[in-house]
Amino acid sequence: MDCLQDQKAVVIFSGGQDSSTCLAWALHHFKDVLTIGFDYGQRHSTELKCRVRVRDGMAALKKNWAEKLGADFLLNLDTYRHRLPTALTSDIPIEENGEGYVPNTFVPGRNLLFILLTAIWAYAHPLRHVVMGVCESDYSGYPDCRDDSIKAMQTALNLGMNTRYVLHTPLMWRKKADVWKLAWQLGGDALVNLIVEESHTCYLGDRSQRHTWGYGCGVCPACRLRARGYDEYCQSKQSVQLTCS
Ligand code: ZN
Repeated sequence: MDCLQDQKAVVIFSGGQDSSTCLAWALHHFKDVLTIGFDYGQRHSTELKCRVRVRDGMAALKKNWAEKLGADFLLNLDTYRHRLPTALTSDIPIEENGEGYVPNTFVPGRNLLFILLTAIWAYAHPLRHVVMGVCESDYSGYPDCRDDSIKAMQTALNLGMNTRYVLHTPLMWRKKADVWKLAWQLGGDALVNLIVEESHTCYLGDRSQRHTWGYGCGVCPACRLRARGYDEYCQSKQSVQLTCS
């Protein structure tokens, strides 16, 4: 990965656990790191507020991360708000729909659209490295998080725009516990604590309840996934006699 040290990257950054870990990963590997986010009509704006605090926290953690961290861009995307009510873009109840079915928190094409818009934005800057926190091994059943979707998108972009974009997905084959572990490897307990405290995962936007793994309602699918991963991470840490806060 050392060949990336003179390169610039953009991280698709929502302010959640996964994209926060990806931001740290990018700050470790690249020379300059920008962030881009999307206001697509989320049922709450909690994540968007967390983005700022996570970025500030990362810059405070390491001097060279502060030097590498560049500007943040937030793009508005009203298509979903007005055209497509899902459980993430409206107040309808969250339904998981069982094994093999896509849950109603799935926002169709969201990641594909984020990648396309990021590529258009990156074309002008110019930069070719795009980092995103999609994951196939411990995911929520969203088909556009799968490795094949991302690889197909990279191919489509490079054919259609005559570019050489590289879509980096450092979490693709990691379980949630391993995402916490990656954060620890990149920035120790300080980074894990920052992600616990300032990143946001809960579908309902609940910041009123503080758990060991961070804020959230504790019962929605996203909270349960985050909590289970954190518990597993703590257990594996204790087995090698490291302290878990
Ligand atoms: Zn929740």
